Amino acid sequence: MSVEQMAAAGALSLTHFNEEEQLFRRAVTEFAAREIRPLVREMDEQARIPRALIDKLFDLGVMGVEIPDEFGGGGATFFHSILAVEALSRVDPSVGVLVDVQNTLCINAFLRWGSDDLKRRYLPKLAAGTVGAYALSEAGSGSDAFALATRAAGRDDAFVLTGRKLWITNANEADVFIVLATIDPSAGYRGITAFIVERGFPGFTVGKKEDKLGIRASSTCELLLDDCRVPAENVLGTVGQGYKVAIETLNEGRIGIGAQMVGLSQGALDHAIAYVKERKQFGKPIADFQGVQFQIAKAATELEAARLMVYNAARLRDARLPFLTEAAMCKLFSSEMAEHVTSLAVQLFGGYGYTKDYPVEKLYRDAKIGQIYEGTSNMQMATIAKQLLA
Ligand SMILES: Cc1cc2nc3c(=O)[nH]c(=O)nc-3n(C[C@H](O)[C@H](O)[C@H](O)COP(=O)(O)OP(=O)(O)OC[C@H]3O[C@@H](n4cnc5c(N)ncnc54)[C@H](O)[C@@H]3O)c2cc1C
Repeated sequence: MSVEQMAAAGALSLTHFNEEEQLFRRAVTEFAAREIRPLVREMDEQARIPRALIDKLFDLGVMGVEIPDEFGGGGATFFHSILAVEALSRVDPSVGVLVDVQNTLCINAFLRWGSDDLKRRYLPKLAAGTVGAYALSEAGSGSDAFALATRAAGRDDAFVLTGRKLWITNANEADVFIVLATIDPSAGYRGITAFIVERGFPGFTVGKKEDKLGIRASSTCELLLDDCRVPAENVLGTVGQGYKVAIETLNEGRIGIGAQMVGLSQGALDHAIAYVKERKQFGKPIADFQGVQFQIAKAATELEAARLMVYNAARLRDARLPFLTEAAMCKLFSSEMAEHVTSLAVQLFGGYGYTKDYPVEKLYRDAKIGQIYEGTSNMQMATIAKQLLA
């Protein structure tokens, strides 16, 4: 077999990219360096992503990666979304998660569960300028997601939603929200239904924005649903199947969080490597000390392991092979790796690493969220153990 044939068969290596993947990755990497890097500190301080930058992300093609050409999207693979999230997070994980939620949760849910009518009405918008958000969590239901209390009551040809969602990423920027609510709390998870809610629907408001430790530029807000009328044709999937929509989308979404963690750790390691070559102590660059070299070697090794796990889970998903355990493992491992690697980067910068004048303290703050959202580390371990012990 030639190298090309092996690559086409996926047999060469996980980190071997085909030509299209290489071009896409390069374009996103160059965009991040040119358009995002100069804004990182300001976005963190102001806790917002400027709309002009979001428009440029749409122009770049990273906001509708898997949307088919006929709806104006990129017609590419899930793996491309993962490459985009990684490359963007290397520079700013807040931009990484904006793109991640758009592709791996929202668009993914539309593609998998949307009726032809929903796809026709929403996918062209999501490809062209509309940001999406995904609203499952509530004050009383996080890890126990299906204990949610938001109610959907059927009325004529519509549902009326009442409740509050908490922690919703992209809420400030989004115009389309996938909202999980129950049509019958006594039915448990079988009552859960997914609805497409537009920002302009009467009774819908975006509430308080959280003041966070990290990924500060990414908006995280409460959603208020006060007798919010949603047309019956805006049910995503079927009534009572919302738990499947949620589980299946989040299984894939967490590969994106793995990619975010790999990207931000690579960013931190890049900064640390450049710094240790320049910083002199005891008359020579600190990179000359074996103690420092070994720390960097270990971090790079952990990072490579995490990247391989993320790529493997993404490629399994694209090949339509089982990936549930691999996705949970890649999120668990890469988010813990990110905490170690970003902490080491701060350490290697010494006192400077502890200040906002250098980029690593932000990446250290940004890393922590990987162990919390889209299922905490304990919940990933519960998923892995359930598969192993079944
Ligand atoms: C910045 C940010 C963005 C977010 N974005 C979104 C979003 O876009 N959409 C959305 O729907 N949600 C979002 N979330 C919510 C997120 O998914 C939840 O915070 C997360 O699932 C944890 O839920 P919780 O906060 O209620 O914690 P809890 O479930 O209360 O967990 C608290 C602790 O208890 C542990 N724990 C709980 N149950 C068990 C158990 N059975 N066994 C062992 N340990 C357990 C957990 O691991 C954790 O350490 C976001 C959260 C944050 C902070």
